[in-house]
Amino acid sequence: MGKILEFAESLWKGNTDTFTHHPISAPFGVEQVTQGTWFIKGFANTIVRETGNGLVIIDPAAVMDHEYKFRKVRSVTALPLHTAVFTHGHIDHCFGVADYRLEAEANGWPLPRAIAHEDLPRRLDRYRQTPGYNAAINMRQFQGGAAEVSFPAAFYYPDITYKDRLSFSVGGIQVQLQHALGETDDHTWIFFPDTRVLCTGDLFFWCVPNAGNPQKVQRYCQGWARALREMQAVGAKIMLPGHGWPIIGANRIEQALEDTAVLLESLHEQTITLMNQGAPLDTIVHTVKAPADLLDKPYLHAVYDEPEFIVRNIWRLNGGWYDGTPSHLKPAPESKLAAEIIELAGGVDNLVRRAQELARAKDFRMACHLADWAYLGSGKNPDVGRQTAQIYADRAAAETSTMAMGIFTATAQEMRGKVPQRKKAGIPSVLESQDRRAKKSHTE
Ligand SMILES: [Zn+2]
Repeated sequence: MGKILEFAESLWKGNTDTFTHHPISAPFGVEQVTQGTWFIKGFANTIVRETGNGLVIIDPAAVMDHEYKFRKVRSVTALPLHTAVFTHGHIDHCFGVADYRLEAEANGWPLPRAIAHEDLPRRLDRYRQTPGYNAAINMRQFQGGAAEVSFPAAFYYPDITYKDRLSFSVGGIQVQLQHALGETDDHTWIFFPDTRVLCTGDLFFWCVPNAGNPQKVQRYCQGWARALREMQAVGAKIMLPGHGWPIIGANRIEQALEDTAVLLESLHEQTITLMNQGAPLDTIVHTVKAPADLLDKPYLHAVYDEPEFIVRNIWRLNGGWYDGTPSHLKPAPESKLAAEIIELAGGVDNLVRRAQELARAKDFRMACHLADWAYLGSGKNPDVGRQTAQIYADRAAAETSTMAMGIFTATAQEMRGKVPQRKKAGIPSVLESQDRRAKKSHTE
């Protein structure tokens, strides 16, 4: 057993955990998981299958690690790429084909093809319209605003798309593709019947499903749960997720898929029940609870996304943008509201002092309301900003999820007046940054 499978084993047994080793962090590398099949652990994972007529590669690379992934593949097999499958159009999954095209052209080989769900090209079109927004939100999500980040402007569009399911054969090896709504509207999971290898894409991630992501487009809690149920039915023996590590053995795979489905079904049912009772979003967000025993499972810690954010996405999919709080329908500008509250509080110093008291008592939810009002209502005064920044920094240190840590850390940076510039290409040092963050969250 190599270091990746050994690590997966110790994670499953609870000898280490995802608070220490985030699913998108090390150990990285390439390892054979069964006959003709390699698993490459990176920020996102790549799966390589040898056939009699070249390679089938699931998610060839991320925008920032395509050279690394190409080298890793070429360290274990010299076969040309025949077919790439993109599990979805996120930029940590759908890059890398260009390297194999160049290689094929240089060697006079047939050009490879890429297959994806039919909604994937529309996602790439959207990305080309919104590079500035996507750079900004990824900077917050992964770097906490601490470094420059960019978003690519050019993409490799799939050569072939499909709608519900697609089955094909390469060099005598059957490959089954199934569409699902989940983290995205363009998701595909893949099953190889001969080896019973299941490639989940991001439908399994070694943490609370990323169905809530605060800064990104709609995600699909109920569709995700259905996809997990469908994957349970194929009887896989090896499960290779889009992030994190392999799960080996039918019983473990069944348990991991079952628990993840139950978590999502519970959040969905609780939320829909309250919506049907006419509850406002505020009541729903503070009432719905994820089953605590499930969040304790080694593969379901809230280290990336959080149940609370998933509840908001269930609301967004089934309801309108009005959240049920009447003043939110046509609100005053936040800076004016903040100035009014400073006036009522008898000055900004009183508001800052109370915010600091609440933060010391670890009531960060309340402390940050007051911090926002103090900072905005003071016209983003730098002295006030330094004090409110500390409240956000303390809050970030107390969080477990990448989403919350990233946004709160970015807020602290902004309040300190440190706003990094966006770069034109590449996402530098994202792996190292996430490693540091994972270690930080464990030590605190
Ligand atoms: Zn991903």
